[in-house]
Amino acid sequence: MKPSKKSIPARLAAAAFWLALWQWAAMAVGQEVFLVSPLRALDTLVRLLPTADFWGRVAFSSGRILGGFALGCGCSVALAAAARLSRTVELLLDPVMQLVKATPVASFVILALVWVRGRELSILISFLMALPVLYSAVRTGIASADVQLLEMARVFRIPAGRRLRAIWLPAVLPAFREGCRTALGLCWKSGVAAEVIGLPDGSIGDALYRAKITLSTGELFAWTFVIICLSAAFERVFLALLDGAGVETNLLCVVTNQLSRSPQKVYQSLKKLGNHPLQFIPCLDPLDAPRGGMPYSLPPARYGKFLCGLFDAWYRDLEAGRYVSIRLFDDYLRILAGMPPSTCAAAGACGSYLVVEGDGSLYPCDFFVLDDWNLGSIYTVSVEEALNGEKSRQFLLQGQLRPQACGSCPYQAICRGGCRRDWTALGPEGGNYYCPAFRTFFDYALPRLRRAAQVLLHQ
Ligand code: SF4
Ligand code: SF4
Repeated sequence: MKPSKKSIPARLAAAAFWLALWQWAAMAVGQEVFLVSPLRALDTLVRLLPTADFWGRVAFSSGRILGGFALGCGCSVALAAAARLSRTVELLLDPVMQLVKATPVASFVILALVWVRGRELSILISFLMALPVLYSAVRTGIASADVQLLEMARVFRIPAGRRLRAIWLPAVLPAFREGCRTALGLCWKSGVAAEVIGLPDGSIGDALYRAKITLSTGELFAWTFVIICLSAAFERVFLALLDGAGVETNLLCVVTNQLSRSPQKVYQSLKKLGNHPLQFIPCLDPLDAPRGGMPYSLPPARYGKFLCGLFDAWYRDLEAGRYVSIRLFDDYLRILAGMPPSTCAAAGACGSYLVVEGDGSLYPCDFFVLDDWNLGSIYTVSVEEALNGEKSRQFLLQGQLRPQACGSCPYQAICRGGCRRDWTALGPEGGNYYCPAFRTFFDYALPRLRRAAQVLLHQ
């Protein structure tokens, strides 16, 4: 959590208090060999900073300690995945991890000195410190993965890469992130301790040891301060990188009457939130109320204008070489390029989905959470049973029909009738409530959509 602006002066005051106390204690002791003052430690650090020896030692130790940490990350993920797949591997690994976790660093260092050269010692020790912490973090993350989602992914034969991004990464990353935070601190402490014992030339540990035997307490404090700063800086950078590589998110925007008046402003505001795929859906009226009767209701004419304004802003970005994913436009581009669209509304038929309500009730679509379409409860029926039951079949069958008006429509091939929730009726008088919006949009944007599809196809 970031400190609030109000708490910053209080924190600075606390730091100033402890520095003042340190300065007073150093003056009271009066012997720098035992306790240097903060000013003397700072002076030593300033003298060290411009020297090549200082930066050489920083690079030497950082490279090895972070190398051991990276090795720990890779091995922990691989071993935790193997333990998930095989109970035998899990049983074999558990005592090893317990042993590594419980063994004192000093015992490891002495033992490791027999196996590896002093220069490689901090890699091995950092690795051994990071491994059990990260292994247990990854295992916790794996155990927290949503079982229902995994079952659904299996039923729908979702490819392994997508499962990894959509289910495993969101489950594992939070625990792995906390594990990395702990492991990085441990790696720095134990890595430098290993260097102090192994004394590899050109390391921070070696500098600490020399400062100790020459009674240069100022250098001892300066190097300790450097280790703390390096540990904190690498932790921040690594966690920021991890956060940046986090879970994919889409931004869903519900288009109301009010919001539809400013399509370009909405588009620019959402873009400012980062490079997320965008999705816009018209705000629904209650199922049992006449359409357009609410203050927030989105009239078809307004929705048409909104789509055109949104398209202009999106197309400008496209011409400038910036592709922003908007799901509706993506689907139209896919259709124009001869590929299947990603949404049921653009595909011309309802799809096989399951919506799980808070009480476990299952429904075939979030627009049809109605008693008539209750498919049972997640506690009593399996995903397969809910998807293959009679009600699901009826829902899909009805979802394959299209309003009659679509049959002779020049935009039928790309529009395909839209979402069933917007159909007013299926007979001769029926049509999609937002049909005028779609027609306005295609009249306005179809030639440019075709051009965009051509450009994207040839990229
Ligand atoms: S009602 Fe609309 S959103 Fe629901 S499954 Fe059918 S097409 Fe898709
Ligand atoms: S534009 Fe209207 S009539 Fe044409 S396919 Fe779409 S919903 Fe049907």
